[in-house]
Amino acid sequence: MLVTLHEILSDANERHYAVGAFNCLSLENVMGALEAAEELRSPIILQLAEVQFPEAPMELMAPLFLEAAKRSSVPVCVHLDHGQSLETCVKAIRLGFTSVMFDGAGLPFDDNVRMSKEVTRIAKAAGVDVEAELGKVGDAGDSMADVFTDVGESVRFVEETGIDALAIAIGNQHGHYVHTPQLNIQRLIEIHDAVGLPLVLHGGSGTSIEDFKACIRNGICKINVATAIQRGVMKRIKERLAQNPDEEYIPLKKVMTEASREVVTEHILLFKDPYPTSPRGGEKDPLYLPEGRR
Ligand SMILES: [Zn+2]
Repeated sequence: MLVTLHEILSDANERHYAVGAFNCLSLENVMGALEAAEELRSPIILQLAEVQFPEAPMELMAPLFLEAAKRSSVPVCVHLDHGQSLETCVKAIRLGFTSVMFDGAGLPFDDNVRMSKEVTRIAKAAGVDVEAELGKVGDAGDSMADVFTDVGESVRFVEETGIDALAIAIGNQHGHYVHTPQLNIQRLIEIHDAVGLPLVLHGGSGTSIEDFKACIRNGICKINVATAIQRGVMKRIKERLAQNPDEEYIPLKKVMTEASREVVTEHILLFKDPYPTSPRGGEKDPLYLPEGRR
């Protein structure tokens, strides 16, 4: 069933798990992702980023995402990832996306507020939810200094914009990590306590299992996964071609769907159970923070 971001994330926020938001660029990705979600009886977010439009145009992907969501037996949110302009967000809303992200993280704070607020005003009129971003999520290779989301700014940002979910920067990075990132869980706790809104972690591929779990226990409700799917699919394609260099297209297509299912399954299982040992009923538990970051 097709649902909004708010519907999906409020349950996750209450019950302390995270919903995987998977960037899907193909029919194989979408079919694999939904098979995984249905098998695990888990909600899921299908998303497409504006930078991916050349390979997967939004106008073509929207009907696929939406029809797949409507036919699904689990809650599915169809989300625009990293909308770079108001126009793109409006286009996504017109196409039927149930949620849009406006990415103004690169803008000065006041411009980010103004734009995110405008996107939210338009989206809300159409019954669509909004994610926005504050602080800079690094790109692989960036230095970590001075890019963390500020707690005071988060509070102002959320109050002034009226968004439904906030993407934060706590040392997470997009793309392929050179080193496993060290996430600032203390900052996450402070932001979550201050804003009380579902928080989003971008750059999920390559994060350690321990860090994922610490994030989810402390307020992260949506985790974006893009690179891991692409890597997982390529790994399986290479394996198959190594076994049989003359493999045909249709069997390879099945390999791609199956690999997408595997990667999504692995992440859903990880995101739904954030407790490494005895669960404590979902309360905040700094005892389980990774070593050195308590
Ligand atoms: Zn992102």
